[in-house]
Amino acid sequence: ARQFTRPLNDLANQFNTLLSAIAGAERVFDVLVEKVEMADEEKAAELEQLEGEVEFAGVSFSYEKDGDTVNDISFRVLPGETVALVGPTGAGKTTLINLLSRFYDPDCGSIFIDGHEIRDIKRESLRRHMAFVLQDTFLFHGTIRENIRYGRLTASDAEVEEAAKTANAHSFIMNLPRGYDTVLDQDGGGISHGQKQLLSIARALLADPKILILDEATSSIDTVTEMKIQEALVRLMKGRTSFVIAHRLNTIQKAEQIVILRDGELVERGTHRSLLGKGGFYSELYHSQWKREVPLPG
Ligand code: ADP
Repeated sequence: ARQFTRPLNDLANQFNTLLSAIAGAERVFDVLVEKVEMADEEKAAELEQLEGEVEFAGVSFSYEKDGDTVNDISFRVLPGETVALVGPTGAGKTTLINLLSRFYDPDCGSIFIDGHEIRDIKRESLRRHMAFVLQDTFLFHGTIRENIRYGRLTASDAEVEEAAKTANAHSFIMNLPRGYDTVLDQDGGGISHGQKQLLSIARALLADPKILILDEATSSIDTVTEMKIQEALVRLMKGRTSFVIAHRLNTIQKAEQIVILRDGELVERGTHRSLLGKGGFYSELYHSQWKREVPLPG
């Protein structure tokens, strides 16, 4: 996931200086991203309401000139479904997310959201329909309240707290001496990795997007916090199309679709049950990696 979060990290570094300069901007993130990216196509339009259907149609892409990083990827996701992207490191999972969120455009093929090719949608408009919960949470120097409100800058204090409650973050926040006014430094020092994830879920709830991008944590988080995260994620994912770069069997089993990537190829697709039945690459991964994993309750 390093490549994917890099643009976000760069932005975090510029954030403080720019924040005051562009106070009042609707979505600071979008403004910053627009500065470092190529301009939209001239005919690019706003995307208003969204159901959340996503289709990859024959998508190929490479970062360098030689050889495809992902090759001829096709699959369709219905509104509200969860897709688990599964495969070894370097298989192309993050690249598919980079393409969906238009940090890059495909060399061949197209990606459609509700039937609109995403190339024809303004980036700012596209990303307003997306929220990201990543391993390296994007926090900036500011209060916890400000960090959550970043999901929707017009949200009231009451809405911020409501989101924090749904995200199971409220109680840990209230246990801090300064509560929602606690100032976080740029990398969120002072709170745990799991707590940062809860803040990032609260922020995503506030943004209320139709499409979610989740990069499941690989680092260990204590069991209690992990359960809070899982519960909050279930609430967040309800009614949204979710793409999960998944590492845990529990997550993968629950997905409506599992997309298995290997060396940039989509090698298998289906549910946990159907893929196990096939006895292919997924089944191999299952037996070598996840079988002994103890499922979380619930
Ligand atoms: P995964 O998320 O499945 O681990 P990635 O999509 O991150 O895989 O990477 C797929 C391949 O693309 C890897 O070989 C990786 O080294 C390469 N890659 C990823 N990002 C870049 C980049 N910005 N420039 C060049 N190569 C990249």
